[in-house]
Amino acid sequence: MSDKYDYDLIAIGAGSGGLSVAERAAAYGMKCAVVESGKMGGTCVNVGCVPKKIMWFGANLAHAMSDAKDYGFDIDNKGFDWGHLVKKRENYISGINNWYHNYLADSNVDELVGFASFVDEHTVDIDGKQFTANHIMVSPGTTPSVPDIKGAELGITSDGFFELTERPKRVAIIGSGYIAVELAGVLNALGSEVCMYLRKEHLLRSFDAMLRETLLEEMLDQGVNIMPSTQIKEIVKEEDGTLSLCDDKGNKNTGYDQLIWAIGRHPNTQGMNLDAVNLQIDEQGYIVTDIYQKTNIDNIFALGDVTGRAPLTPVAIAAGRRLADRLYNNQTDRHLDYKLIATVVFSHPPIGTVGLTEGEARKEHGSAVKIYQTRFTAMYNSMTSHEVPTAMKLVCIGAQEKVVGCHIIGPGSDEMLQGFAVAMRMGATKKDFDDTVAIHPTSSEELVTMR
Ligand SMILES: Cc1cc2nc3c(=O)[nH]c(=O)nc-3n(C[C@H](O)[C@H](O)[C@H](O)COP(=O)(O)OP(=O)(O)OC[C@H]3O[C@@H](n4cnc5c(N)ncnc54)[C@H](O)[C@@H]3O)c2cc1C
Repeated sequence: MSDKYDYDLIAIGAGSGGLSVAERAAAYGMKCAVVESGKMGGTCVNVGCVPKKIMWFGANLAHAMSDAKDYGFDIDNKGFDWGHLVKKRENYISGINNWYHNYLADSNVDELVGFASFVDEHTVDIDGKQFTANHIMVSPGTTPSVPDIKGAELGITSDGFFELTERPKRVAIIGSGYIAVELAGVLNALGSEVCMYLRKEHLLRSFDAMLRETLLEEMLDQGVNIMPSTQIKEIVKEEDGTLSLCDDKGNKNTGYDQLIWAIGRHPNTQGMNLDAVNLQIDEQGYIVTDIYQKTNIDNIFALGDVTGRAPLTPVAIAAGRRLADRLYNNQTDRHLDYKLIATVVFSHPPIGTVGLTEGEARKEHGSAVKIYQTRFTAMYNSMTSHEVPTAMKLVCIGAQEKVVGCHIIGPGSDEMLQGFAVAMRMGATKKDFDDTVAIHPTSSEELVTMR
């Protein structure tokens, strides 16, 4: 512990990144504090992964109830109480918030409540009070973006979605990324009429084409309306209270009771007085860091969504823990490798994806690429009138057929991928997959039996 400063480390933001670095640093005996201006746990706990996954479970039950009749159950779905689920969900989240307060106290991490801004390289101001630290770690996260068009304020964002206490009847979702897709799937399953407006042609543009095409087909089949290549220019509130969306083709799309902007997020760096330390940000406002999460200022680090790299909770946690290992446990080269990070889209059905898409592999490795893929109906759906597709793809390269991409869509994909991601990090080849005895009867067995 340095006598010169109040703390060894101050982490700005008690989200996935800030909490992980402070907790690990404190475990190494450092004097740490976390500053938070909102709720403990940040985006993931309060308006991200956690409430989203609970809504996804609810939506899964709605699908299961439609399938139950096909399995011989005599059940009647007498409706869905949105308010009931939201209340229980928010109680659960309050429990997590409270747990964090106790956990930080038990871990010897001080909680500083308020909004942090820089005074100098070792000093932050928190609502008028100043604290100093040897190291300052910045992880304030991001905020959903709203476009600068007339009437945009009539819409909500994913934050507003989690505040809804009633199920909206007709919803327009603007955006094509994973948050747009996930909210559309939940709302549709729980009984809202949903239309997605995509600025360009495709959903999930950066994903493997097989995934996005299969998902599109299934979403249309489930009744989600999708308007590709449509730009919204103005939102109008009509006399009956409904919203109309005026698009770039001169159409007025009417009758929505909610509009959700899911067009991306921007870094939470405004108001932090980064200029006081000349902290380098890129043209979109993300804090520039090297592989060690170091900014252009020696004692200031940044991690998580604010760095604009792989904005996912486990990424922020892993980067934070590794940073503490390096700074306070002499693990001098410890840093997060941002390659081969597996991720899931909680769509209906879910997507699991890791590594290079086929397109990326062909661009990087040309004719050395070999693709294995399959499409089938999972055994669960052999009894149901609604058949959900499952599709899988392995992207392999070179004579060894090293597996550099694994892409799955279909029921169970969310829980299927983690182990395959381990194998790929260890350099698994197609032969390693083939030599692995299958688990039967499962969908995942197809991944080790593809020809
Ligand atoms: C709808 C949605 C669904 C998601 N689903 C998933 C998922 O399924 N899986 C997954 O891995 N990721 C998911 N994410 C992403 C995940 O939530 C983020 O990657 C993760 O929360 C990033 O952690 P972070 O620490 O960088 O920032 P955050 O968790 O955003 O934490 C930043 C914290 O800093 C605080 N703060 C900001 N500025 C200041 C300041 N100046 N002073 C004090 N405090 C400040 C904020 O209040 C906030 O609490 C989802 C995100 C959203 C929006």
